Amino acid sequence: MPGAAPIRRVAMLSVHTSPLEQPGTGDAGGLNVYVVEVAKRLAARGIEVEVFTRATTGGLPPEVELVPGVQVRHVTAGPYEGLGKEDLPGQLCAFAAGVMRAEAARPEGWYDLVHSHYWLSGQVGWLAADRWRVPLVHTMHTMARVKNIHLAKGDTPEPTGREIGEAQVVEAADRLVANTDGEARELIDLYDADPARVRVVPPGVDLGTFTPGDAAAARAELGLPADAHVLLFVGRIQPLKAPDVLLKAAADLLARRPALREHLVVAVVGGPSGTGLAKPKALQKLADRLGITPQVRFVPPAARERLAQWYRAADLVAVPSYSESFGLVAVEAQACGTPVVAAAVGGLPTAVGDSGILVDGHDTTDWSHAIESLISDPALRADLSRTAVRHAAQFSWDHTTERLVEVYAEAHAARTASPIEDARVLAGIPAAVIP
Ligand code: UDP
Repeated sequence: MPGAAPIRRVAMLSVHTSPLEQPGTGDAGGLNVYVVEVAKRLAARGIEVEVFTRATTGGLPPEVELVPGVQVRHVTAGPYEGLGKEDLPGQLCAFAAGVMRAEAARPEGWYDLVHSHYWLSGQVGWLAADRWRVPLVHTMHTMARVKNIHLAKGDTPEPTGREIGEAQVVEAADRLVANTDGEARELIDLYDADPARVRVVPPGVDLGTFTPGDAAAARAELGLPADAHVLLFVGRIQPLKAPDVLLKAAADLLARRPALREHLVVAVVGGPSGTGLAKPKALQKLADRLGITPQVRFVPPAARERLAQWYRAADLVAVPSYSESFGLVAVEAQACGTPVVAAAVGGLPTAVGDSGILVDGHDTTDWSHAIESLISDPALRADLSRTAVRHAAQFSWDHTTERLVEVYAEAHAARTASPIEDARVLAGIPAAVIP
């Protein structure tokens, strides 16, 4: 837009989880990776980022520099520890107050845009953007209405309060960022989002860290047998991610092919998250019941370089999730040249493309056969490995950031160009009312 001021500073909101946390356990996962990778690249392009997140331990410094140009600001909202995600809506007022105070201490017009992640941040972002008269860009990451359609057996449905809160954020945001066309459709169909405000921006993968490499060396480093079939699960251990599906499929495979017993390793890399399966011992007990304890290894969450070695060491990575807005793990594995067997849900068909195996549903036999088809066919594995690397190469955080900058500029220009739009937001009038 000619004359529109460039975006110089972004207030990024990540209320419930910090970009400083290790992903793969608790509430830390793909969202954290997304925020870190995008913030770093925005800073490299000269756009300063301040990430506001809730302080979850005492004695944290108020600000931590992630890299030059990216500050993580800890906001005190509620007790540091022992507060579950489900209790966070009660702390949003305190969090918003912290964000408002931080802005009030800055020169006027400090932030040019608010980018909120997940609905809790969207609630705060809505208020902040309104007060500062700047655009709100929002990324849902996951949606209650989608999750509730695809619940794992015994999983607790997301509360109505979240659905209502999400719908409010959808209404308030100047632009909604969806990971895939499918997510864009869900925003429109399930949340009545205005299609003119929805933009599809695919997430990325760090193609410098997740590269193909020497599988034998990776196995040696990780203490895995050179000749084993290694099946890998990476992610937060929770019902929605369904690591139990992999364990059951492995047990079924061993029942059909007992000769594999000496040669199968099922590695589960990640930590507990939430309740149910997340109870530290629940998955171990399942392995016990299935009689596959000797084959299963539980590995604590791994940092990026180490995780890349796990991907390289594996014959395949299983992503059996019930719902997944994208599935960074699927792309990271493929960038390392490891084929993926994934559930055909949410963003996974996009993340996997034609370079892996998509399984409809979570039936144990279907999963066991899909896994068997890969481990018993080295030529197919080699073939998929090559296409996987090519497929993953189209996702990069540089591209994600470039697209986001376009969305930011567009949202900013729309506000500048349309005093009506700005007035609408200030007066709280829904877009449809203005002709
Ligand atoms: N992850 C990690 N270490 C682990 C397990 C997971 O760094 O031990 C990261 C993984 O690399 C990925 C993210 O956590 O980038 C999980 O993202 P994904 O989109 O797969 O799932 P989400 O957590 O968002 O549901």
